[in-house]
Amino acid sequence: MALKILLVNPAIYDFAAYDFWLKPYGMLSIAGYLRNKAEFQMFDYLDREDDFYKTHKTRSDKYNKGRFFSQPTANPEPLKNITRKFSRYGLPRGLFVEYLKNNDSTEFVMIQTTMTYWYLGVKEAIDDLREYWPATKIILGGNYATLCYEHALKTGADLIVKGVDLRPLWDYLKIVPDLDQPGLWEIYKNLKVGVLKLTDGCPFKCSYCSVPKVYNGFKQRSMKRSISELEMLVKLQVSDIAFYDDSLLYKFDEISGPFLDEIIKRQIKVNLHSPNALNARFITADVADRMVRAGFKTFYLGFESKSVKWQKQTGGKVFSYELAQAVEHLKNAGVDAKNITAYQIVGHPKSDLQELEDSIRYVNSLGIKTMLADFSPIPTTPDSQLCSKLVNMDEPLMHNKTAFPIISLGFEKVDELKQLAKGLNRNIK
Ligand code: SF4
Repeated sequence: MALKILLVNPAIYDFAAYDFWLKPYGMLSIAGYLRNKAEFQMFDYLDREDDFYKTHKTRSDKYNKGRFFSQPTANPEPLKNITRKFSRYGLPRGLFVEYLKNNDSTEFVMIQTTMTYWYLGVKEAIDDLREYWPATKIILGGNYATLCYEHALKTGADLIVKGVDLRPLWDYLKIVPDLDQPGLWEIYKNLKVGVLKLTDGCPFKCSYCSVPKVYNGFKQRSMKRSISELEMLVKLQVSDIAFYDDSLLYKFDEISGPFLDEIIKRQIKVNLHSPNALNARFITADVADRMVRAGFKTFYLGFESKSVKWQKQTGGKVFSYELAQAVEHLKNAGVDAKNITAYQIVGHPKSDLQELEDSIRYVNSLGIKTMLADFSPIPTTPDSQLCSKLVNMDEPLMHNKTAFPIISLGFEKVDELKQLAKGLNRNIK
């Protein structure tokens, strides 16, 4: 009899959470490698297409982003001085307990972890699993498991998969994976949003980012597998696909360019998005044109600051004139300015060099939207050294992206910057 595995995507405990095309892609990919070799069930607390939402409607925008069901809860002790509303986001805990009571236990449970400071949701799921399915072996993987390995050991999971080397997992399960298989998307009863990832890693080394350490370089994924994943998502009739690549446009002519051409050639009609931020440096007129023809609808560009000093000190991934050029190319390709957004980090430990107000105004002067991306200090990054002067980096809750900018800049400054960005964005039609 095939091995039975339950996949769990935990609830989120945070000051804010929004479904920005969030899917547990790492876990779905792993389950896909084991397609036909194990029997899967899934409990995704963050699935907004779950039947629960039929009676607890939350608003979605036209590209299927939207709010999660949420319940207010007390701030955890380390965040008690951050006087903002704290909530639990996702399907109610009782539904998972009911699920565990009404179903036979599986041999294994895999839990996807995402942000390091979301571990309370992971802990909640593990506590319930231990109570109702005590014999089940629990496996953790993902960002929290990788970046806070020592802390994750304390959750009581049986196996923690650190990083991207999956060999310990295959040994533990005693299954040989089929790495050509796409993610296990068919496990969802209703699916509107899918995810693709054509590459791993990034050629840059920004001082605030964990990607260089986790992936150690840049690598293309199998094109054959990416195409079969695309075919699968199209067959499942998703309307939106988000690319989870960290550097989608690097080596465009070899990787994402041919992939987008395939979408154009097959006349696939799906909305494409880039929540992880595109590098403006790589957006030429040709790249913009092919992205638009393939179906890209929203364009999120990583910018962070207009200060050359700050840009150089943090890795020099993009300079201001490159952002301006990219915006020009996108507009010429027919992109509506209100669908172009440049992210800027707020709360970075070198904020004094960042010229944030000027940076916000600069983005606005290009006629596009600005989005302040709250800075989260990430263990293992060069900047985490600086951050440890402000917070205890061994407590993952202190990596919280709402809390850190407030600790670093103060409530008033953060509010002032957000009001400035909000006000200027109103002019972008
Ligand atoms: S370019 Fe983006 S993904 Fe790459 S290291 Fe910098 S922030 Fe990280």
